[in-house]
Amino acid sequence: MQEPRKTRAKDWNTVEADDLRPAGNGKDCFYCGVPLGSLHHEGCVIRRCAGQYLVAIRKNDTGEIRIYRHDIAWDDTSMYQWTDGNYGCDCNRRLFWYRAAGDEAEEVICGETAFSVLYAELPDGTRIEIDESPERRGEKP
Ligand SMILES: [Zn+2]
Ligand SMILES: [Zn+2]
Repeated sequence: MQEPRKTRAKDWNTVEADDLRPAGNGKDCFYCGVPLGSLHHEGCVIRRCAGQYLVAIRKNDTGEIRIYRHDIAWDDTSMYQWTDGNYGCDCNRRLFWYRAAGDEAEEVICGETAFSVLYAELPDGTRIEIDESPERRGEKP
């Protein structure tokens, strides 16, 4: 039996050796046919199912929205994390908001009003509301 793929921490947009697959031609992405080292086609399954998703985070005092890339695949627990879990708190949201611009946040301030998470966007383009979701409002979904 074939071993499961290792999850990779880095870039899912660039064709890596692993993407050539044993059944491929040894030079190009097995799925989209783009050469090793180049960028996968936008619709390539490697990109679409990549272990990442985007989150739109707004700093509420200035209104500035930044798009943060979270390098973990969206799963059944993700909504909970962003609503009632750790990422529902301003301290983590602040961290991610700064990180989205390549900075590190200097302060750790807990709260629920400084940052809003508008939506998560999955690699296939699906958007999932976070702060306006019933889960976040404390209603039953
Ligand atoms: Zn590809
Ligand atoms: Zn906190």
